[in-house]
Amino acid sequence: MLDVKELTVHYGAIEAIHNISFSVEEGEIVSLIGANGAGKTTILKTISGLIQPTSGQVSYYDKAIEKESAKQIVKEGISHVPEGRHVFGGMSVLENLEMGAFLRKDKEGIKRDLKRIYEYFPILEERRKQDAATLSGGEQQMLAMGRALMSRPKLLLLDEPSMGLAPIFIQGIFDIIKEINKEDTTVLLIEQNAKIALQIADRGYVLESGEVVQTGTGKELLASDAVQKAYLGG
Ligand code: ATP
Repeated sequence: MLDVKELTVHYGAIEAIHNISFSVEEGEIVSLIGANGAGKTTILKTISGLIQPTSGQVSYYDKAIEKESAKQIVKEGISHVPEGRHVFGGMSVLENLEMGAFLRKDKEGIKRDLKRIYEYFPILEERRKQDAATLSGGEQQMLAMGRALMSRPKLLLLDEPSMGLAPIFIQGIFDIIKEINKEDTTVLLIEQNAKIALQIADRGYVLESGEVVQTGTGKELLASDAVQKAYLGG
């Protein structure tokens, strides 16, 4: 479904990722793990068209998309939930969710998806009239995910979904990610919480200083000595 080949990205003179290749098959959950600054966010931003690579290809269903606009990429079914609180302040929770569906015309489908999102995140229904800027960090995280789902993505890119969440909510959000995946959304996830990210992943890639250094199934990576030492404190 997604094929990233020999991707290199620079910010000015700084090389953030170097010659990275990986793939995501339809139906999978794939996790990219790595320390701060390894290049995880840069990879997602490049896939979703927010940054242009210096070299390399991003193919989506065998079509090159690395030169397409972010809007076009959303239209084709890739939705990105960025790190942190990127909700629209001055707009209600419901208006934020509706914004996620701005490229859709199927009113019935939109209604169904809104209901589904309220089932995943009941707090969003309770707060639907509240200004999104006044939600707590964790609630904003849920809203950002809900808004991305409103575009009915085929591929969901999640940047650190556990960030800023209280420990009791972290498992909950990952349960929802699994649920979303079962309902036909492929997931590419980046996380600093390597344990939970590998537990739910079909496959994973380990990044160090902008390069892929290890790959395997979630289980294999969890059991690997190098991953244990570097990321799981074992
Ligand atoms: P974290 O887990 O800390 O969010 P990350 O793996 O997502 O890290 P990136 O945000 O992709 O890492 O950053 C990769 C490298 O690119 C880092 O060295 C970072 O300092 C650099 N970088 C990121 N954004 C910019 C920018 N706008 N200008 C210059 N350098 C940048």
